[in-house]
Amino acid sequence: RVVSAAPASPNEEAIERALRPKLLDEYVGQAKVREQLEIFIGAAKKRREALDHVLLFGPPGLGKTTLSHIIAHELGVNLRQTSGPVLEKPKDLAALLTNLEKNDVLFIDEIHRLSPVVEEILYPALEDYQIDIMIGEGPAARSIKLDLQPFTLVGATTRAGMLTNPLRDRFGIVARLEFYTPEELARIVRRSAGLLQAPMDEEGGIEIARRSRGTPRIANRLLRRVRDYADVKGDGRITHEIAHKALAMLDVDPQGFDLMDRKLLEAVIHRFDGGPVGLDNIAASIGEERDTIEDVIEPYLIQQGYLQRTPRGRIATLAAFRHLGVTPSKSSQD
Ligand code: ADP
Repeated sequence: RVVSAAPASPNEEAIERALRPKLLDEYVGQAKVREQLEIFIGAAKKRREALDHVLLFGPPGLGKTTLSHIIAHELGVNLRQTSGPVLEKPKDLAALLTNLEKNDVLFIDEIHRLSPVVEEILYPALEDYQIDIMIGEGPAARSIKLDLQPFTLVGATTRAGMLTNPLRDRFGIVARLEFYTPEELARIVRRSAGLLQAPMDEEGGIEIARRSRGTPRIANRLLRRVRDYADVKGDGRITHEIAHKALAMLDVDPQGFDLMDRKLLEAVIHRFDGGPVGLDNIAASIGEERDTIEDVIEPYLIQQGYLQRTPRGRIATLAAFRHLGVTPSKSSQD
């Protein structure tokens, strides 16, 4: 994929960090989540307590990591960052937890991928700020209790449904991040263009925003590719025309769908007569992982009304047929 929602090279990651808003006020969109956090953060600060544990869920690139940094920044505490698959053993997590200072934020990305033994030691840590660790081995082994400083866990996951119930129950604040509107993305693109010192017309920014799959990470990435195009094929200025041409070159269609989106819709329509078709069949047919389809590709197509998830499988909607210029056969309309 030319433009995927996952973070790419270290260089791209550095640019992403530079574009990351640091304050809640700079965080565009997600009004409900922002309003809640503002109140809860304000209350925690006033009482000098740790903020309640926060679970953030939503597709990649919508701003979960950014929000965790903002939470720590607004609380005026340190942020420690790790991810589910990195924490292999209980002692990996224990080392992190015992090093936290009072009211710090621990951010665990992909928290649904914690191993069960690691998750087990997280429960008492979240509930009572305590962990049980094993000292020694065999018959001489004994468990000791360690007190931790009060802290806030911010967990991020693409799908809340993938968390075990006991873990989900321990989050006092649960926030679902939504896809951004074109207007919100236009604000993000304008801000980023300013930071990158890239001259851009209003219409150029709107065109990039419209075609960013509702996702800030994609908007910022497309902005940089369009800027490259403007530097080489134009006079450096990002206009509507330059944005339009650059995005066509990048295979982002006018609806903002990329190659994988179209591949998925084409498969459902051409090979499975519009569905219903199961996820495994789609995965095999387009050569993509189930998880990638569920976490990255599908949510936007569903939100935009091009695909439906039913108990019998996925169905392409009339809008999808129209988008591909296909007339639905009778059987796919019943
Ligand atoms: P996630 O952790 O959900 O995958 P990130 O927090 O890494 O997503 O966000 C990806 C990029 O998008 C960040 O570099 C940031 O610059 C930008 N971004 C995300 N959310 C916002 C927002 N609400 N306002 C402005 N920029 C944002």
